[in-house]
Amino acid sequence: MPATRPILIAGGGIGGLALALALTKVGRACVVLERRERFATEGAGIQIGPNGVRVLQQLGIADALRPLVGVPESIDVHEGSSGRLLARLPLGPWIAHRHGAPYWVAHRGDLHGVLLAAVAADVRVSIRAGFEVSSLTQTADEVRVTSSAGETLIGSALVGADGLWSNVRAKLMPSAVPQFVGATATRAVIAADEAGRLNMPAVGLWLSRHAHVVHYPVRGGAQVAVVVIAVEDWRATDWDTEADRNVLLAQISGFDASLIKVLARVPAWRKWSLQRLASLPRWSNDRVALLGDAAHPMLPYLAQGGVLALEDALVFSQCLVVHAADEPSAFQAYETQRLRRATRVQAMSRRNGRIYHLAPPLSWARDAILRWVPGAWLMSGYDWLYGWQPGAE
Ligand SMILES: Cc1cc2nc3c(=O)[nH]c(=O)nc-3n(C[C@H](O)[C@H](O)[C@H](O)COP(=O)(O)OP(=O)(O)OC[C@H]3O[C@@H](n4cnc5c(N)ncnc54)[C@H](O)[C@@H]3O)c2cc1C
Repeated sequence: MPATRPILIAGGGIGGLALALALTKVGRACVVLERRERFATEGAGIQIGPNGVRVLQQLGIADALRPLVGVPESIDVHEGSSGRLLARLPLGPWIAHRHGAPYWVAHRGDLHGVLLAAVAADVRVSIRAGFEVSSLTQTADEVRVTSSAGETLIGSALVGADGLWSNVRAKLMPSAVPQFVGATATRAVIAADEAGRLNMPAVGLWLSRHAHVVHYPVRGGAQVAVVVIAVEDWRATDWDTEADRNVLLAQISGFDASLIKVLARVPAWRKWSLQRLASLPRWSNDRVALLGDAAHPMLPYLAQGGVLALEDALVFSQCLVVHAADEPSAFQAYETQRLRRATRVQAMSRRNGRIYHLAPPLSWARDAILRWVPGAWLMSGYDWLYGWQPGAE
């Protein structure tokens, strides 16, 4: 019977695994189809705002992740060229108290590993590595997906959690193609005792016109994750490319010597080109739906892409409960609940990017605001984001 068939999930990233786990909580079986042969533990850092930690708590994996995370006390915003502290935006106990959940920073591999362990321990989830979803067809009561190797699986529904370059989205909306934004992200993870000034219990943000740098402690403080986001005409569709160190050194050359000294010693960096996609008019079509970056790719200037994928997963599972026997209606409800919030976060991320890379004299005005407006007041502008509760939409 179609109702007993599993839900197929294309993609075993943060969104796909969180969805698999959320589905087990509501008693649904699923199959995670991941194109990679094995789940890699590489990657860099990920900030998980209180809205994301709340989802991890509800999924029952926050305790497993807690020993591995950092709990930053603040976001310390620096003027890039001088290193001068412009603002200290409170996190730590302030944000935990305000939103009822803490702000965590983690190694992406740790978050992924905890999700994978929880999913692998549940008999209702099957994981198929090396299965690249290549094509799909749907009828009134089932979806068939075929891999690039020609294998076909049948499910009651399909969720495309296959990331920025989603194949499932391409099948539903061929004209929705991500566009390069003219910037890259270059990332590394370094040992805390080699991180000099960057080794601190805070998220550091260093601003300059053509680049900004973000860093924070991961792996319980043993390492520091660093990302350099720079205006650059370099693009790739790969998730993971080795970066040219000399290009990176040129990008950070205008920063304060204390930052350059640490970053210049890092031997290897990985690089991503940043893409945007206009908000999609819909995320589902009958028995096929999109989730995470497949539905709403996010520029990383608000550190929320992965967190929104976690939110999506929880809401998706709740909609399936409410519309138990009617998956197309459940998917429609999920889309209605999520689309406006995701569109708002996408827009705020883009806005943050513009603010980070302002040129004088607007950057002087930005810096003056950062210096003089209380950090708690600036952070309270994000209550709508971090204070999210499932069902709030
Ligand atoms: C520089 C940078 C910094 C970031 N920092 C943060 C942060 O601090 N906080 C935050 O919340 N977010 C952050 N993000 C965003 C976050 O990384 C993404 O939003 C998140 O990874 C999306 O998860 P996902 O599961 O939707 O997609 P992905 O993580 O891309 O996972 C998709 C999965 O699908 C698989 N796949 C792809 N195609 C197929 C197919 N056809 N068949 C089967 N499997 C397939 C892929 O191999 C992959 O495993 C950042 C992003 C960047 C680039």
